[in-house]
Amino acid sequence: MQAFQLVAHGKPGSFELREAADPTPGAGEAVIEVRACGLNHLDLWAEEGGLPVSIPLPRTLGGEVAGRVAAVGEGVVEWKPGDRVAVQSNLFCGECEYCRRGDQSMCLRPKMLGVECDGGFADKVCVPQRALVRLPAEVDFQTSAALTLAGSTAMHMLTNRASVRPGDWALVIGASSGVGSAAIQIARQLGARVIATASSEPKQALARRLGAEFVVDANGAQWPAEVRQLTGKRGVDLVIEHVGGDVLLKAFECLARGGTVVTCGATAGRGATLNLWPFFVRQHRLVGSYSRNAADVRATLEWAATGRLQPVIHAVYPLEETAQGFAALRARTVLGKVLVLPGSPE
Ligand SMILES: [Zn+2]
Repeated sequence: MQAFQLVAHGKPGSFELREAADPTPGAGEAVIEVRACGLNHLDLWAEEGGLPVSIPLPRTLGGEVAGRVAAVGEGVVEWKPGDRVAVQSNLFCGECEYCRRGDQSMCLRPKMLGVECDGGFADKVCVPQRALVRLPAEVDFQTSAALTLAGSTAMHMLTNRASVRPGDWALVIGASSGVGSAAIQIARQLGARVIATASSEPKQALARRLGAEFVVDANGAQWPAEVRQLTGKRGVDLVIEHVGGDVLLKAFECLARGGTVVTCGATAGRGATLNLWPFFVRQHRLVGSYSRNAADVRATLEWAATGRLQPVIHAVYPLEETAQGFAALRARTVLGKVLVLPGSPE
């Protein structure tokens, strides 16, 4: 099979399209023929060597996999070749305290697909069967690959780590990202009035199309004041944040009394100094959110099947052009998701 592998870290890193041995499923594992694989910021960090785990090279990146079961290992009875599946990218142990209660996002022995083991920028990938989720008939491979990781991250933030009540004001940071584009739709479906930040006219138009009532220019220094203005100086009940650094601090300026900032990323910086006085006087909450539970992946795909959640696909690339997808994501001009499609079109 062919695999698009990272052979040297860098910004950009070096990749090679290589002939690799077909994976053989071990006990409890399944080999998936990859039909589409989404690109995420995590892949850029892995490319740059910017993750707190060391990645032995060469490595096939790619965690947002949709495809068909090609082969199953010993003891796998629930799945058979041909089944259409999505893969939950935070490979969880299934046995620890957290996994047993359904909080796979808190697994004590997690493995990131496409980082700590070979991922989906290849014709085939081997994963534990417990990471498989059946694709509803209405959901095609590209939709799945555009929503399974980023969309379920947003689903986890909005329905598990924080909550939205009808009529709440919700602010979504970075409307055009995978998480942001899903978060706008989910918050809106849950009855929130949505304000989004976006840094260009096309990104602002996308935010409106997805259901944001107001969009503020993320490049303007005054966007927190604009958000307060839009809410009659009250502020928002919830901020969905994934940028980090100073943006996280600005998110608190937008928050109503008793409001919550839920954050799942730090692409703009992993450090921030929070002024604790307004934080406790206004009784704010800061909630961390990481990856997703199996229930979030299932909910995301069900929402996609019923049309409540639409994928936003910016571009698709054949496997041999995967590096171009990385470059597009790094250039920050992407609206929604970049997908890689191994194999020939089905
Ligand atoms: Zn576990």
